[in-house]
Amino acid sequence: MNQIDKDKVYEVLGQINDPELRKPLTELDMIKYVEIEGGTVKVGVSLTIAGCPLKKKITEDITSKVSELDGVEKVEVDLGVMSDEQRKNLTKKLYGDRKDQPKGGTPEAVAGDFAKRVIAVSSGKGGVGKSTVTANLAAALSSLDYKVGVLDADVYGFSIPRILGVSGNPTTIDNHIVPLRRENIQVISMGFFLDESQPVIWRGPMLHKAINQFINDTLWDKLDFLLIDLPPGTGDISITISQALPKAEILVVTTPQPVASHTAGRVAKMAEKTKLSVLGVIENMSYYESNGKRDYIFGKNGGKELAKNLKVPFIGEIPIKTEIREAADNGTPIALSDNTELADYYLNIARSIANVKK
Ligand code: ADP
Repeated sequence: MNQIDKDKVYEVLGQINDPELRKPLTELDMIKYVEIEGGTVKVGVSLTIAGCPLKKKITEDITSKVSELDGVEKVEVDLGVMSDEQRKNLTKKLYGDRKDQPKGGTPEAVAGDFAKRVIAVSSGKGGVGKSTVTANLAAALSSLDYKVGVLDADVYGFSIPRILGVSGNPTTIDNHIVPLRRENIQVISMGFFLDESQPVIWRGPMLHKAINQFINDTLWDKLDFLLIDLPPGTGDISITISQALPKAEILVVTTPQPVASHTAGRVAKMAEKTKLSVLGVIENMSYYESNGKRDYIFGKNGGKELAKNLKVPFIGEIPIKTEIREAADNGTPIALSDNTELADYYLNIARSIANVKK
């Protein structure tokens, strides 16, 4: 019988991704050794953390892939855990050169080094559909093949996990958080770390620290877009964001009520205070259409007026649709569904945002 080729085993292992980090096990230095004895292949694996919830999947993937090689009769997977040193090296590798940038020094040094563009989605008040727009915009940008991350900074009313249908406790490696994923979208939310039934009382410095950790200590991929779901209003969080990510652009979501000038004043003040630019305005819940007739339930043209007052582009409007609400409640935003007619509203908005030259 031919001796099994060790290089071939490594080649196969190089095709298996860590389910969380989505990179080959070999690249992550997770393969400790490969031993071959007759028809038995023994693979030593160093997991990132003890009790890794995905060890079953890793074992299964290795067993089934390596078994396909000629001459393999049995595969044994020996699971161990990385040393602190190995974990440090791994985070360094995943982090790229970002970690070497001065932290807390000049803000420009850290800004946007992992995300080409940062868009902070904001609204004058709650309930206008800001989170629904954020989640659908993330889905639309992702389906246009952009790498997207969503940071849910709406710490008082986090709804991103529900709308994107992601839940669980993120793994931390060497004090770095591995974001959860929906399709290819990386997601981080306070909701992953808190018990939903517990009321949250945040003091300013704690909030500042938490948001900074989400920005700096999360293992984000190299992103094309980081979308941030801000809390309604113009509070402290936008200041924290602007300090950590001074290149962030503010995207304003509004309903069409003609209160534009009031909101415009507040947004303009926030932009001035934070020195962030305003990307544009999206009008949500613009009208309800039934039998070809449009009913402007919440008024008309508020979004366009707001854009005019702020002297920024009006990016698009989205009608009121039961399907949009239902999809969000069911954890699959409409832009990820096969309802192409409704997904198109978000795709068009995503295209115009992506086309803004930065
Ligand atoms: P916010 O983040 O501004 O507080 P949400 O995104 O949570 O608002 O939306 C508030 C409610 O309105 C949710 O129930 C959501 O499903 C619904 N909603 C948002 N946009 C639309 C829309 N275009 N059509 C129908 N319902 C919508």
